[in-house]
Amino acid sequence: MVASIGVLALQGDVREHLAAVAACGDVRGVPVRRPSELDAVDALVIPGGESTTMSRLLETFELLEPLRKRLADGMPAYGSCAGMILLADEVLDGRPDQQQLGGLDVVVRRNAFGRQVDSFETDLPFTGLPGGPVRAVFIRAPWVESVGPAVEVLATVPQRTRSGADAGAAAGRPVAVRQGPVLATAFHPELTGDLRVHALFCDMVKAAVAIS
Ligand code: GLN
Repeated sequence: MVASIGVLALQGDVREHLAAVAACGDVRGVPVRRPSELDAVDALVIPGGESTTMSRLLETFELLEPLRKRLADGMPAYGSCAGMILLADEVLDGRPDQQQLGGLDVVVRRNAFGRQVDSFETDLPFTGLPGGPVRAVFIRAPWVESVGPAVEVLATVPQRTRSGADAGAAAGRPVAVRQGPVLATAFHPELTGDLRVHALFCDMVKAAVAIS
């Protein structure tokens, strides 16, 4: 059976994630807007965009509770940027009415990089990915402030960014994490054409589908 990977299609860079999933081959990528569409997928990608807007739309589209339940039941999920914020158990600097999906035992800080470096690119060593560092695009990104015991840190901000700027307080902050079937990056691999993070997620999904 070909695994089917949904991309939450309420807001954000949905098309880019659908293209990245499709390019992995051997899996099907489908947009998810309705609870019935969520029921039909084996896994879900939550794209970059704006977490407060997505949170509101999850409620409007009556997806919040069904999605929380699927995650609690162990559905594989990958969140990039706003998706990472939504998957985190706790968010700092969020809006008071912002809802968390949960499933990832981390505290994230929204818009953590601040004004001066709020968007930048750098090369990140990424544990478990073959082929050298990953080009990471950060756009008003969060970082991870703290992780629970079951969370594996896969990448952190280097001391110097690609342009040579000192990362300052950002240095060493986790920006890619995994907890069992849940993967999250503070950056946007869907924007670079480097498919290795999506390929890692597709492998996680195929492994989960094979044992279910
Ligand atoms: N700052 C955005 C938020 O709070 C995330 C930005 C992004 O996904 N590129 O959701």
